[in-house]
Amino acid sequence: MLRGRIIKGVGGFYYIDTENGLYECKARGIFRKEKITPLVGDTVEIQVIDEETKKGVIERIFDRKSELIRPSISNVDTAVIIFAAKDPDPSFSLLDRFIVLAEKENLEIIICINKIDSDDTGAFLQVKKTYESCGYPIIAISTFTGEGLGELREAIEGKTVVFSGPSGVGKSSILNALDSNLQLKTGDISKKLGRGKHTTRHAELLRLDENTTVADTPGFSSLTVNHIAEKELKDYFVEFTKYEEDCRFFTDCIHESEPGCAVKKAVENGEISLRRYDSYIQLINEIRDSTRRYK
Ligand code: GDP
Ligand code: ZN
Repeated sequence: MLRGRIIKGVGGFYYIDTENGLYECKARGIFRKEKITPLVGDTVEIQVIDEETKKGVIERIFDRKSELIRPSISNVDTAVIIFAAKDPDPSFSLLDRFIVLAEKENLEIIICINKIDSDDTGAFLQVKKTYESCGYPIIAISTFTGEGLGELREAIEGKTVVFSGPSGVGKSSILNALDSNLQLKTGDISKKLGRGKHTTRHAELLRLDENTTVADTPGFSSLTVNHIAEKELKDYFVEFTKYEEDCRFFTDCIHESEPGCAVKKAVENGEISLRRYDSYIQLINEIRDSTRRYK
């Protein structure tokens, strides 16, 4: 038995990265009977059938730590949410949306601001001011000057990560800068994935080094928050949580118009960013509109 990780799946074949190289495997019939589908990202045990042609069979799938849906990929630890200091300018409301989606999937979040070389409006500091107080690490980088790349590498060392962010912020450039062996063409990732379009492409894992892995997908297939329940959304604005116990209605408070809301009070006295709170209200309304429409 050989242990490895599924890095790609195409038409019933799975490609397993192991210490002895890459194997093409089918899954044992028992998985189909039990309605278990192997996922990219799974740690598996394979039986080698032919060493020459590197073929084998997946015998065992280890428990998943996590599972992203559309694209289906398991055991992702971290979302690196990438925005640019300029071209395109950072959008706070879009950033909050990415954060909510990553929080919903229970991923660790790292915020990364690329193109720091052309930050002439203090965009990075603005992002830092707002999101540092939420507890997120924020890294400034430039694929042009190399600034911050070491720090980013260190932050993702040993993890499986997705690089998320709007198109044009430099996701492919960053992957290339982290590992010249990846040879992704700039602009490729976003082009291949399209934007909000349905693509039949499957996720694939790319090895950055011994134990650091990057998924070649943005992690979230769409930026809608409509699958999140109205009452649940506040949990993904993590800086609200510590105030919630002081709300008159505790965890029942959705921090909107209830009396005695400690979160609203914290917004009023500047402890919680008004911009973040406005994002929250906007997303709550979006969720409400969508449930109304489908009733
Ligand atoms: P993606 O759509 O997120 O994959 O972005 P790309 O990697 O294709 O980059 C989009 C554009 O941003 C390209 O024209 C890159 O040359 C440019 N770019 C990437 N990194 C940097 C950077 O650090 N500084 C500046 N000024 N431009 C960058
Ligand atoms: Zn409240």
